[in-house]
Amino acid sequence: MAGRKPLILLSNDDGVHAKGLLHLKRAMKAIGNVIVIAPDRPRSSCSHAITLHKPLRVFEWQDADGDTVYACNGMPADCVILGVRVLCPRKPDLVIGGINDGPNLGDDIIYSGTVAVAREAALEGCAAFAISVAGFENVKYEGAAFVAQWLAKRLLKTKLPQGVFLNVNVPNFPLDKIKGLKITRRGFKHYVGEPEKRIDPQGRVYFWRGSERPISEFLPDTDVGEVANGFVSVTPLHVDTTFNNLVDNLREWEQEFTNSKRTKRKC
Ligand code: MN
Repeated sequence: MAGRKPLILLSNDDGVHAKGLLHLKRAMKAIGNVIVIAPDRPRSSCSHAITLHKPLRVFEWQDADGDTVYACNGMPADCVILGVRVLCPRKPDLVIGGINDGPNLGDDIIYSGTVAVAREAALEGCAAFAISVAGFENVKYEGAAFVAQWLAKRLLKTKLPQGVFLNVNVPNFPLDKIKGLKITRRGFKHYVGEPEKRIDPQGRVYFWRGSERPISEFLPDTDVGEVANGFVSVTPLHVDTTFNNLVDNLREWEQEFTNSKRTKRKC
C-alpha cells in the first residue's frame, strides 16, 4: 500500500541485550516500523529449537535508546512465532535475525539460532534474512547495519519464492574496507576435534563443547570463500532440504521393500 511504512520484526540468538540487535534496530527504524522480540539470555547454537514443555513468558524491556522491546524466555524460533502471530498488528513485511556476533557459514547454518529466526519466518510465509558479522572481538556493527538496511530496502521491493530466505555474512571490517557483495552458495566449514575432556570436583569426567576447531574450504562463490575475500556474502536458502537429485534414484527401494514384506509373510 502506498505510503504505508513497512512493518519489520527483529530477533536474534545473542539475546535482547546484544549490541548487534541495537544496531540492527537503529538501521531498521530509518525505513519502517520496528518490533523487537528476542530471547532474554544468550541462545547461540540453539538451532531451530522451540519451547513446548514450559510456559513462554514475554516481558517489556527498555533498550539503551529507551525504546520498548520484548524479552522472551524462549528460543529464537519461539520469538518469531510470538512476534508474527501475537505482537505484530499484521503480518510483518520483513523479519530479520541478527546482527549476530560471529559468522554463520557452512555447518554453522545448521546450528545457528540467528539463521533459525529467518527460517521460522520463511515457514510463516514472511520475507526474511539472517545477518552475522564474521568476527567475535571488536565487532564492527556499522558495516553490517548498513548492509542490513540496504538489503531490507532491496528485499521490500522483491518477492522471493515461497520458503526462501537469505543468510547474510559480513566481514568484520569498517564499511569502506568491505569490497562488495556476492551472491553465494553454502560453503564448507566443518568443526573437528574432540570436545574438551575435564574432571569435575568429584573426580568425574565431563566434556565441554566449543573447543572444536573449524576446517574451511575457501572456494570462490561460497559463503566461506567470499567473506574471507572481504565481500558480503548473501546465500539464498530454502526451508525444503530435500536432496532432489536422489529422489528418483532411490525409488527402486519402494518395490524392494514391498518384495521384502511379501517374502516375510510367506515364512
Ligand atoms: Mn549468536
